Amino acid sequence: MQKKLKFILAALLITITACITTPVSEKSALILIPFSQELSLGAQSYSEILSKEKVSQNTRLNKMIQRVGKRLAAVSDMPDLDWEFKLIESPQQNAFALPGGKVAFYTGILQICENEAGVATVMGHEIAHAIARHGAQRMTQQMLISRAMSFASLNYSNSQYKPLILGALGVGAKYGFQLPFSRGNESEADEIGIVYMARAGYDPNEAVNFWTRFQSSKGNQPPEFMSTHPSDETRIERLTKLLPNALKKYGATPVQHGIGEKVS
Ligand SMILES: [Zn+2]
Repeated sequence: MQKKLKFILAALLITITACITTPVSEKSALILIPFSQELSLGAQSYSEILSKEKVSQNTRLNKMIQRVGKRLAAVSDMPDLDWEFKLIESPQQNAFALPGGKVAFYTGILQICENEAGVATVMGHEIAHAIARHGAQRMTQQMLISRAMSFASLNYSNSQYKPLILGALGVGAKYGFQLPFSRGNESEADEIGIVYMARAGYDPNEAVNFWTRFQSSKGNQPPEFMSTHPSDETRIERLTKLLPNALKKYGATPVQHGIGEKVS
């Protein structure tokens, strides 16, 4: 009985100390993964993915991804991470950001982005997932669900957990299994992302335009990017509500880039 009580007290203490508050959206979340471990899992997953993909040699587009990425990272709530931005040659309409600021865009999504502000929309959303530590939140949930996984054994080189780690980080589709971000995580990434975009000097109106283009780009085959995300109508409606606040932040930035350079 006493043992049980001790366990409950310890669990409570962990829960209290492990609750973080996400920036911008100010939601609290439970994370039981040490930040240092999260960073190393992100870095290892990133290099594994890049080793299997073709990194784009297009100088102009690479520069654009770097430029937008650096501007958003600088005004984010974690500017000091070791940010990296890569462009992968692939028709996939996809992008991701791993813990520690490891970001990749697939060339397939750039056509829908159309311009730098479109890139900033996707970039803001992805960066927000990393900063709100959604991957670590999900790993925590998975570990609490699965007794087989102990926190100590959450090791990338332990191949048993690799699919779970990649899945929790949102990049499991090709590499193991996909664990979709929850709708709550998705809405939160939109909410934080549009603020980062505006702070970086990109016209937040383009976030609504991007999602409208994205919606009409879906032919018979739904794009993989955010296929588990909220319906586009809901998303556009919500972003439109967030727009006045984002426009205020955009208006207050010293340098405004508008929609920036066109993709093609
Ligand atoms: Zn997302």
